[in-house]
Amino acid sequence: MRTPTPIHPEDHFAADYGTSRRAFLQAAEAAGAALTSHPVAARGARGEELATDVAYLGPQTPERLLVVSSGIHGVEGFAGSALQHQLLAGDLLGASLLPGTGALLVHALNPYGFHALRRVNESNVDLNRNFVQHPEGHEQNPGYETLFHSINPERLDEESDAAAQRAFLGFAREHGFDQLQEALSCGQYCHAGGVQFGGVRPEDSNRTLREIARHALRGAREVAWLDIHTGLGPYGVPEMILELPLNHPAFLRARTWFGEAARSTVAGESVSPKLPGVMDFGLLEELPEGTTLTPAAMEFGTYDANRVFWAMRADNWLQQHGEPESERGRSIRAELLEVFRPADPAWQRQVLARGEALVRCTLEGLQGI
Ligand SMILES: [Zn+2]
Repeated sequence: MRTPTPIHPEDHFAADYGTSRRAFLQAAEAAGAALTSHPVAARGARGEELATDVAYLGPQTPERLLVVSSGIHGVEGFAGSALQHQLLAGDLLGASLLPGTGALLVHALNPYGFHALRRVNESNVDLNRNFVQHPEGHEQNPGYETLFHSINPERLDEESDAAAQRAFLGFAREHGFDQLQEALSCGQYCHAGGVQFGGVRPEDSNRTLREIARHALRGAREVAWLDIHTGLGPYGVPEMILELPLNHPAFLRARTWFGEAARSTVAGESVSPKLPGVMDFGLLEELPEGTTLTPAAMEFGTYDANRVFWAMRADNWLQQHGEPESERGRSIRAELLEVFRPADPAWQRQVLARGEALVRCTLEGLQGI
C-alpha cells in the first residue's frame, strides 16, 4: 500500500493574491499546462495587473473535462488556489487522467476581491449573484429590505450591533431562521453600497467566465465543474452544493460521485439556501448544446454562520463609512480574512486532503471508473 504523502499547508496556501498567482502560474508551467490570462480593468493597490488565469492539461480536444475554479468570492480564493496548486504540484492530474480527459484550472475568478481581501469585486458586487438577466431577473428580497438598516448600519458600535441583533432575532421569531438566512444571504439588486449586492449589469468577471465556458472547454461533451468556496458549514467539512432539484440528472450524478456530501439547495438540504444569479446559470447559457454539465460548489465550513455574517457586515461598513487603513479597519479586515481563510494549519490541511479526495471522486465519476 502506498503511504500518503504528508500535506504541508504552507506549501500551497499563499500569503496574498500576488503570491498565489505567481505560484499558480509557475506550477502550471512546470506541469506543462497551456496558459491564458484574463485581466480585469481594475488594478491592484500598487498598480499591478489583476487577472483570472486559466491552465489546461490534457488532449487537444478532450471528450471529458474536469474544471476546478477558485476565488469567485475573492478572499475565499485562498482555499481554492491552494487546492489548485496542490493538484498541479502533485501527480493526481497526471496519473488519473485517461486519454480523452482534460483538466482546466481557473484561478481567481474575482481577482480584485482576492487581492483586496474582500468577498465582493471592484464594484462591491457578489459575483455569484450576478448571473441573472439585468434588470428583469432581479429578484426581490423583502426580508433584506425590512432589515436593511441592521444589515447596513451607518455607525458600527455596540449600540448598533445590539439593535441589529434584536432585529435579526425578532425577524427569526416571526418568520423562522431559514427566512432570516435567505434575507441575509440571497442577495439584492437595489443597494449598490449594501451587503450582498448582485449588481445591475454583467460584471467584467461575469463576461470572463462566459468566455471561458464558450472557448476554453475545447468541445468537451461531458464537463464536471467544481467551484471552491469557504465560510458555510462545519469547520473544515466540505459540502458539494448544487442549485438543482433532487431528480435532476446532474444532481443524481453528483449523489453517485459524492454520496451524502452532495446537497440540493432546491430541496432545502444544503447549508446554503437556494440562490439567484449563481455562476451555474451563466455556464448553462454559454455551454454548447449537447454538453452534459455537473456543476457543484465545493463549500468548506469555517466558523459559525453568525460570526461569518458579522464579519461581512463589518467589512461592508468599513468600505462604505469607515477608514480601511486605520487600526480598527485593519482588525475588521483581519477578521474577514480569518472567517474565510482560517490561519489554523489543521483547517488548511483538511481543505487540501478532503478537497483532493473530492476531485478524485469527480474524476472517477466523470471517467466512469
Ligand atoms: Zn463563496
